Amino acid sequence: MKAALIHHPIFEKHNTGIGHPETPLRYDVVMKALRGDKKLWENLNEITSEKASKGLIQAAHTPQHFKLVESAFAEGLDRLDADTTISMQSFDASLFAAGGAVSGVDAVMTGEADNAFVVARPPGHHATAERPMGFCLFNNVAVAAKYAQNKYKEIERVAIVDWDVHHGNGTQGIFYTDPSVYFFSMHQYPWYPGTGSRGETGHSRGLGATLNIPVKASTQAAEQKRMFEAAIEDIATNFRPDLIMISAGFDAHLTDPLGQLKLEDRDYVSMTRTIKQWAAEVCQGRVVSCLEGGYNLDTLGETVRSHVKELASN
Ligand SMILES: [Zn+2]
Repeated sequence: MKAALIHHPIFEKHNTGIGHPETPLRYDVVMKALRGDKKLWENLNEITSEKASKGLIQAAHTPQHFKLVESAFAEGLDRLDADTTISMQSFDASLFAAGGAVSGVDAVMTGEADNAFVVARPPGHHATAERPMGFCLFNNVAVAAKYAQNKYKEIERVAIVDWDVHHGNGTQGIFYTDPSVYFFSMHQYPWYPGTGSRGETGHSRGLGATLNIPVKASTQAAEQKRMFEAAIEDIATNFRPDLIMISAGFDAHLTDPLGQLKLEDRDYVSMTRTIKQWAAEVCQGRVVSCLEGGYNLDTLGETVRSHVKELASN
């Protein structure tokens, strides 16, 4: 498989302040691990992320939300909620992060790559249609899913698989009444941000197009993986996506300081393979995976490398 690797040096410039877990070093350790695997790196199609336009962002967010992120720093704000700190280049970084996910869609649609991984920060899945939240400014995956549907005739249905340890409340909310985007989140529960119970299954025309699999703290990895496989099998019987996106948080890892689950690198590899197989059956292998969480700087690079290596393998 030809995998695209999308990134931009500005992801180092979104400065969240000393001691913040969502640090620029996350970008460094991930890029170092990927570049350090020469054989893998030579096979990746490296793409520099471009800025998402205001119009693309506003397909998933209100104009007020866009304006807030655009003007916050200039107006003297250094945070957008209790956890979401910003610096001078955060607005630009957030446009390149959403733009990276959009580039991922273009890469798989134009045939430049079979699948893509986007090393973006700030992450996106907590950002709702109306507000930044939980380290997230714009919802990168949601912006890209909307873009894919609007730009490419062959993309009617998108499946978003969110395996971050935290519930993807923002993405869920944006597509809650939309039957064309299936949202599946597997996350520690109860945990931040408090949403993501089994009873949340969509609303109105979107009823049945949201699936939440809450996982108790300290659940064994094998058990969690079984829950994941069963969920994908279930979704695949009812929903045939034209594109699959992954909200790829790696904070459900055994070593992560922000979660209490027990996945290891091999579990992420196996979940990646499951998604790839599903994509091969229904949408010519089109998978766009975007970095969300993952906060152990000693292990994150290697975990991401394993994930990307599996995306790139045959
Ligand atoms: Zn997370």
